[in-house]
Amino acid sequence: MLKTTKTMKNIIEIDKQYVANTYARFPLQLVSGKGSIATDINGKEYIDMGTGIGVTAFGYADETWANAVKLQIETLQHTSNLYYTEPCAKLAKLLCEKTGLKKVFFGNSGAEANECAIKVARKYGADKKGADYYNIITLKNSFHGRTLTTLSATGQDKFHELFNPLTNGFLYADANDIESVKTLVKENKVCGIMIECVQGEGGVLPLDEKFVKAVQEICNKEDILLIVDEVQTGNGRTGKLYSYMNFNLTPDVVTTAKGLGGGLPIGACMIGEKAENVLGFGDHGSTFGGNPVCSAGAVTVIERITDKLLNEVTEKSNYIFNELNGASGVKSVSGLGLMIGIETVKPVKEVLNYCMENGVLPLTAKTKLRLLPALNIPFKELKKAIEIIKKACAI
Ligand SMILES: *Cc1c(COP(=O)(O)O)cnc(C)c1O
Repeated sequence: MLKTTKTMKNIIEIDKQYVANTYARFPLQLVSGKGSIATDINGKEYIDMGTGIGVTAFGYADETWANAVKLQIETLQHTSNLYYTEPCAKLAKLLCEKTGLKKVFFGNSGAEANECAIKVARKYGADKKGADYYNIITLKNSFHGRTLTTLSATGQDKFHELFNPLTNGFLYADANDIESVKTLVKENKVCGIMIECVQGEGGVLPLDEKFVKAVQEICNKEDILLIVDEVQTGNGRTGKLYSYMNFNLTPDVVTTAKGLGGGLPIGACMIGEKAENVLGFGDHGSTFGGNPVCSAGAVTVIERITDKLLNEVTEKSNYIFNELNGASGVKSVSGLGLMIGIETVKPVKEVLNYCMENGVLPLTAKTKLRLLPALNIPFKELKKAIEIIKKACAI
């Protein structure tokens, strides 16, 4: 077990008493970080292989990001969406220029980005075909968020049981089984199909290229919106700016969050040509959406996801796959880019505890170890972390 000190115990007790019991936290209190190194209250350092679940894309206290955020905080921290601000407009322009999508709606989280996508699909269906075209197909084992509607979109029963009735109008197809998608499209009035190109929370499972291409074809043929949830896979994580670019897809709606803000809450729903005018005045909104501070930070994130950086992501990914494939106690390695799932012989909890005791902070996804390091993690730190992870897995 990790050692806890007196001050740390105090914070743990306060947290346990006053913060809602929704998180099973590790007995670890982080106080600072720099790049890919996080420091706990005892001064112990950890190589960060989780980035706060894919959020701190360029590591802790990244200078470029922090400077942009600081400058914006001291200039104008919030205006509401009644007025124009430069960071929000600049970020939307950057995202559209880099993706070819046409319009961006900003919210504060992945779930909120997906809520927007769902509203766009429903309104598109209603405008084009009729109000009964409200169904959206998602995949079994997917994860789309924690609000009631995005829980409903999430194709995992365990998330549904406690919160019925959920939002109507979601149908679940089997991942990589195009016949199950076709059947649902044929038997229901469908306005959208939403996929994650790599199912993150589901166990870091990339979809088959053939399957995603066939989904695209169905969407084109039936005039159904293809929605790609890039909340976790987006912003350079998979070796492309967005993971759909690995499969040459042309989605109608792309949602993202996590890494976009580099550590501040921001979500984006990007809308392509087909649906760019679906949302009109008053159809949707968010008080904090496109907040200038979050947007100013996000601009520095997106500006730095260059081809050079993406090549480095792929290089580091190849290194991790080569090191872990066939290593002792490793059953399989899955994922894309710096989004990696490791199936271990030992129970994952045991592997994780060893890593934490030895100064590495990975994540888990279902029964797998999950790695989401910073996109710019130095090779030296990455190598050290992988050595410890290999030792943790070894039998
Ligand atoms: C994390 C995640 C979400 C939810 O994002 P929040 O910011 O927690 O609301 C949605 N979709 C995917 C694929 C995710 O990984």
